[in-house]
Parts: sequence; structure tokens; C-alpha cells
Amino acid sequence: MTKGLYVETYGCQMNVRDSRQIVALLKEEGYSEVSDPKLADVIVINTCTVREKAAQKVMSRLGRLLGLKKRKEDLIIVLAGCLAQQRGESILKRMAHLDLVIGTHQIRHLPTLIRKVRYTGAPLIELSFSTGLYCYPEAPLPEDKEPCAFVTIMQGCNNFCTYCVVPYVRGPEESRPAEEILAEIRCLVEKGVREVTLLGQNVNSYGQTLTDGITFPQLLERICEIEGLERIRFTTSHPKDLSEELMACFARLPKLCPHIHLPFQSGSNKILRLMNRGYTREEYIEKIVHLRNICPHIAITADVMVGFPGETEEDFCATLDLMEKIRFDNLFSFKYSRREGTYAANMVDDVPAEVKAERLTILQKKQEAHTWEKHQALVGEKVEVLVEGRSKNSLMDATGRTPTNKIVNFPASEDQYGKLVTVKITQAFLHSLRGEIIE
Ligand code: SF4
Repeated sequence: MTKGLYVETYGCQMNVRDSRQIVALLKEEGYSEVSDPKLADVIVINTCTVREKAAQKVMSRLGRLLGLKKRKEDLIIVLAGCLAQQRGESILKRMAHLDLVIGTHQIRHLPTLIRKVRYTGAPLIELSFSTGLYCYPEAPLPEDKEPCAFVTIMQGCNNFCTYCVVPYVRGPEESRPAEEILAEIRCLVEKGVREVTLLGQNVNSYGQTLTDGITFPQLLERICEIEGLERIRFTTSHPKDLSEELMACFARLPKLCPHIHLPFQSGSNKILRLMNRGYTREEYIEKIVHLRNICPHIAITADVMVGFPGETEEDFCATLDLMEKIRFDNLFSFKYSRREGTYAANMVDDVPAEVKAERLTILQKKQEAHTWEKHQALVGEKVEVLVEGRSKNSLMDATGRTPTNKIVNFPASEDQYGKLVTVKITQAFLHSLRGEIIE
């Protein structure tokens, strides 16, 4: 009899990718995914700790699982991901209904660890970092018909931005050998995937831990040669490591989608220095200008933070000014939240909560105006869309994205799923576009 597996994912695309790997590994052990935790024999909560709000959400979710555990004693509850890595021991002490806590490098051992917990009946914690061996096994990806897939090309980070917990919970930077990445993508393409998004905390420094001297632009070039693959995206890039060689790829590699996510975090040089970001606002702007010269229609998105310790009104205005200069396609914006163990945790969190909230509202309003303007400009344009599947909003519609990563909904038949179509944009909304297939 198959056993039920319920996986709940918080946080970034890296976690989404890790959750898929968890499903694939446990499928080989006879588990099948269920959409209701009540039907599960194993529940995996794959967590994020990048902001306090995400961590609090997970803690309350874990609390709510206690009832289920009481009703079904042989249920195994697993805590995985970044919060598990950071606070696993203390959480296990507080939440006696947890069975297994695994760190970010332990995914490949999950089946063995679950078997061990079943055998011993005792809770288990495994948080060690593996080095020298990339943590993704050759387990097959889940069998689904999605034409888009995430492919991890590296893990960890060596940058130590002062607010960020990632280097502590994901470990030092480690690139995955190119041959392994290429083999995974070829396999995905055979299963019908047409678009891959290459994942890493800082993909621009891909290759630095490998001995064969391969760079990220060279990896992109090799991925482009894979027949049947139509589109390549990557995330996330660090502005300080965005080389001319990489920028040039947007002009010369036809499969590389014209979109870059380039977090700037602040428009103030003083704050950027305190954040240990390694670039100035002038350097950031210069890179965007260069990218737009090379690839005029490139979409630029970014992450930005308000209320970092020491951020004055003047610093905040510098952030708004940078937004005005760049006019981003979209922004992911956050209030600074103190993360235990980081360098910034020792700084005085001196921007009052209400000021952070007010700055965030102002910034988001500005960005909404810019996003709206960009979306509005697309009405009447013809864009290429990869049909990804059914739209969440309407049973009649399909959904897909433009090369610039904008969501488009349009009527389409199921036999068009997985294909590239030309769509004429008929309507713009703040978070998506509407259109109709013309080819
Ligand atoms: S580059 Fe900075 S923000 Fe990004 S993961 Fe590394 S330390 Fe965190």
C-alpha cells in the first residue's frame, strides 16, 4: 500500500526545488504526494528563515500539527530547510511532536533518516553540512507535465551581507559540476520541459569552487546548445559579480530570456556599505544602463529593503531616487528584520516599526505606478508566451509568461500546453496581463 506524503514549502525558489527533490526521493520509497495533511504518513515542512515573519509563520504551523500527531501516532513530522538548520535544536526541544529535523544539506539522506525514526521511535536531528559532494542525487524529478523547471546550479553563499542569514544556514558556496547540470537539463527536456530557471544564491560566481575553470557565461552557452530547450532564466544575481561577459550573454544567447533579477537593497551608499553589499549606487546604475544598451527590452526586477539600522530619511529618499532612475519592472520589497547570528543583529535596530511600515508603503506605491506603466505599455503588443498550464483565475484560461517574465492569461486549449505561442496583449492589470493567441 502506498504511503501518503504531504510537503509544505515556505520561502524561495530554492526551497521549491528542494521540496521537489524530497517528493522524488520519497516516491522511490513508495510514498505518493497527497494534498491534505490528514491523509499523510509523513509531513515535511520545508522552511525559510530569511525574515522573522516567515519564521513565525512556520512556528505557528508546527503548533497546529500537534492535533494531527495526537490522532495518528505513527505520523512522522519532518522539519526541513533554513529555519530547521538555524534553530532546529531549540525547536525540537519546544515541539515534542516533531520526529525529525534535517538541515539544508541533508535532503538526500531523508529516506534513510525517516526509516531510522520509524525503527527507533525516537526523534532525530541531523544538521551537518556536507562538503565536496553536491547534495542532489540523480533521483528522478516528479512526473508532471509542467514545461518549466528549476535546476539548482550551486548552493550556499560566501558574501555575508550583514543582514542575511543564508551563509549560515546554507553553508559556503559550492558549485555543481557542469556535466551534472547539463545531464539533468537534458533529462528534463526529454520529459517535455522547455524552460529552465537556474538557481543559486549568487549564480554570477558559479564555477569558483570548481577546478575546471568554467564560468557562469560558459555554462549558459553550453546549456543553450541543448536541443529542444527553448528558454533559460537564472536567479539570483549579485550586482558586484555581474560581469561584462555575463551581460553580453543577453545579446548573444538567443535562448536566454531578457530578464534579470538584480537585488539592489538600498539606494544609499552609506546603507550599502553597512550592508556589506560590495557596490555603490553609481555602480549599480551603471550596470543597468549597460544592460539596457546591450538588450534594450530587458526587464529588471530587484529586492529592496527599508529600515535597515541607521537608515535616515535621506537614505530612504536615495532609495526612492534610484527607483525613479531605473524604473524597475517589479520589486520585492521588505522591512528589515533582525536575524539572530548575523552581523547586523549587533547593530541597533533604530528605525521605529511605524517608520519602516510607512516607508514600505511609500515605496510600494511608487513601484505599483512603475509596474502599471510598464504593463500598460504592452497593451496591443504581440509577445511570445510559453503556455505553462491552466490559469488559477479561470478554468477557461491558460497561463504563461513572456520572455520578460510577465504573467499572461489567455484562452487556450490543452493541446497548446507546453508550446510557445504568440499572444496579443489586450488588457493590463497590476500583477498580470490578458491576451489572445494570434498564432
Ligand atoms: S548575496 Fe548576500 S543577500 Fe544574497 S544570499 Fe548571499 S549573503 Fe544573503
